Amino acid sequence: MKKLLLALVALIAISLAAFQLPAVQDRLVDQAIRRNMDNADRGALFNDDALRLLVCGSSSPFPSEDRARPCLAVIAGGKFYVVDTGPGSWNRMALLRIPGERIGGVLLTHFHSDHIGDLGEFNMQTWVAGRPGPLPVYGPPGVERVVAGYTEAYALDNGYRVAHHSAEFLPPGKGLMEAHAVDAHDGARPLFTDGELRVTIFPVHHNPIEPAVGYRFDYKGRSLVISGDTTKDPRLTAVARGADLLAHEAQNQELVARMASLAGELDRPRLKKVLGDIPSYHTSPVEAAGVANEAGVKLLLLYHLTPPPPRAVEGVFLRGVAAVRPQGVALAHDGDLVELPLAGGEPKLSRLR
Ligand SMILES: [Zn+2]
Ligand SMILES: [Zn+2]
Repeated sequence: MKKLLLALVALIAISLAAFQLPAVQDRLVDQAIRRNMDNADRGALFNDDALRLLVCGSSSPFPSEDRARPCLAVIAGGKFYVVDTGPGSWNRMALLRIPGERIGGVLLTHFHSDHIGDLGEFNMQTWVAGRPGPLPVYGPPGVERVVAGYTEAYALDNGYRVAHHSAEFLPPGKGLMEAHAVDAHDGARPLFTDGELRVTIFPVHHNPIEPAVGYRFDYKGRSLVISGDTTKDPRLTAVARGADLLAHEAQNQELVARMASLAGELDRPRLKKVLGDIPSYHTSPVEAAGVANEAGVKLLLLYHLTPPPPRAVEGVFLRGVAAVRPQGVALAHDGDLVELPLAGGEPKLSRLR
């Protein structure tokens, strides 16, 4: 026994010493760099055998160690379309090694900062990655102002990049964004088509924030709906009818109330005021489950989690949901992937590493 212990200690000592050897360090660094840069395996995400949804941000404005602010990427027909670009979401896409040049467009649901904060990064980084043209940015009226603002904020950096890498490598015209404003306040309407992909824009109730919209994607017989920020809204239920997947925002009102009460105890009156205001314009997990049932969707994926629950006890967020909808509910995490096979079948949920 004593010999075994001595051998173990010797082995640990040798291993620790090995980590100090430059050759060993170089090898480990190479492995880490390769892991972060190699995206050859991501090509399979773009195979034309499914409509896919990738979570590039599952949180709400509240801080989170492992969740970016709202961002959902819809993958179809060899491209991805990003619904909302919350702060931290480009970093998440990069960590997930998604090839930026395949971006087909950005769709904004409304202009709260937690939904638009990384728009400049998405434009800049996908241009550098080799995007074939300007980036279309869709949204309700107001999207022109947001695009103009980010364009101005990044104008100096655009110039730096062209001067540094050459206009041949980074054609300035391809680094631009094109705003497409569509007024959908009086009902759902077609937004655009790209091959067999059809995208619909529809109004939601996020008062006093007006306009606010959601989006529905239809591709080769599969469909998914993204709520944006909303209260429980029958217009959304109507648009989502029969969809395979509903990604719906969710705010656990009990947890928010507990946070407000604790903010009072901790002498954080401004935080308490904000926490007291927000229940009026979001949807609880139980309400979202009701929407999913009424719409008859196969899978409900809750995102924009307010507050983002700690991993170890995240079931707390779903209290009461099982009584309304025992199955077909999932809580989104960054990196979650839902696949809707074009050949038919149930939605498949997995997580990218
Ligand atoms: Zn939000
Ligand atoms: Zn909002």
